[in-house]
Amino acid sequence: MPTTSYWLAQPLSPVSAHSTSDPVDVVVVGGGVTGCSCALTLARHGVGVRLLEADEIASGASGRNGGFALRGGAFAYDDACLRLGPETARQLWQLTETTLGRLEQLAGDAFRRVGSMRLAADEFERSALRSEYDALRRDGFAVEWVDRLEPPLDALYLAALHHPTDGALDPARWVRRLAAEAIAAGAEIAEHRRVDLVEAHRLARQAIVVAVDGSTAAFLPELAPFVTPVRGQVLSTEPVQLRYRRPHYARDAYDYWQQLPDGRLVLGGCRDASFDEERTAVDGTTAAIQTRLDVLAAALLGSTPSVSHRWSGCWGETPDRLPLVGRVGGGDRVWVAGGYSGHGNVLGLACGDLVARAILGERPPVLEIFDPARLV
Ligand SMILES: Cc1cc2nc3c(=O)[nH]c(=O)nc-3n(C[C@H](O)[C@H](O)[C@H](O)COP(=O)(O)OP(=O)(O)OC[C@H]3O[C@@H](n4cnc5c(N)ncnc54)[C@H](O)[C@@H]3O)c2cc1C
Repeated sequence: MPTTSYWLAQPLSPVSAHSTSDPVDVVVVGGGVTGCSCALTLARHGVGVRLLEADEIASGASGRNGGFALRGGAFAYDDACLRLGPETARQLWQLTETTLGRLEQLAGDAFRRVGSMRLAADEFERSALRSEYDALRRDGFAVEWVDRLEPPLDALYLAALHHPTDGALDPARWVRRLAAEAIAAGAEIAEHRRVDLVEAHRLARQAIVVAVDGSTAAFLPELAPFVTPVRGQVLSTEPVQLRYRRPHYARDAYDYWQQLPDGRLVLGGCRDASFDEERTAVDGTTAAIQTRLDVLAAALLGSTPSVSHRWSGCWGETPDRLPLVGRVGGGDRVWVAGGYSGHGNVLGLACGDLVARAILGERPPVLEIFDPARLV
């Protein structure tokens, strides 16, 4: 059954969409953070750009996520150093720290720079945290080790890393604001406008940007082996006593939550309750996962809260958990930016901008990290 996120259920300013159906230089498919970011950069450079969104701006993962704005990728920094090499890992983390600064400027009160907490649920995870802490310190990134946790976290977790440069988003409000910036810069945006590749080719004079993350395989079937749709589930409670002033995550981010300034707890994850069932793009919640989320919410709050919203969203997962950003399909017209593997709030802003810059003829070195040719 289709679900509505807490973020999308709030009053949101409508996107004052204006668009024509004449051919345009660049067509962007998808109105999430990636597509809006791409449209903004292109429009600011004077390129004629039209963004086509099947539903409404931010109705995909960008308006359904946990609202964590974290630096880095979908794995810890020490792991990134091993997988990518220390230089590339540092480059990736620097890109996302710079992007967090840009997000802060663009998002206004939809972003709070409150840091984030990565928690250790057992000894194994505590040593994983220590390894990330050491690697971040070695390379000059801000991070703090936290041994003494406040109740009730002290009974549930062993230690934490505080990442002070991270923050919390109201993701739907943020992405609508980004869309408004793109429109102000000259981009056209058409909502309720689903297209396929044939239609996109007809409309685009120069380039097509596929910015549909969890729907990448559906839009470009040749990428199906490389971008798998994965569903995540979330709930939000009625306002309760404020205990968590910043986003928290634990068990390798299988559990995550943030509390909003009014006390509402937004909590998601527990996908490990049924991995196979969650390998889908179908919107809907399941008892197996929502029950686990209820149990976690009660443990974190000390009593069973009243739940106001339950929802799901879908992201694109790649084999190496890094997004694909670049040309695909053999020709030179089709570009992709997606596959953030559940970590796209900051990377999506960065990659939308990067794909636009590539279309403009720039070659930012950091783009090589995301080159689809590494997989495709
Ligand atoms: C439950 C959940 C929790 C998450 N938590 C976090 C988090 O806390 N932090 C974080 O960094 N990341 C998180 N993510 C990941 C993050 O939300 C995504 O990676 C990011 O929003 C992707 O943005 P996007 O613009 O690429 O794609 P989306 O936001 O998914 O936008 C794609 C858009 O394309 C549209 N579309 C699809 N097909 C077509 C078509 N044929 N024609 C026109 N339009 C089309 C869709 O309607 C959709 O609006 C989470 C994701 C989910 C689902």
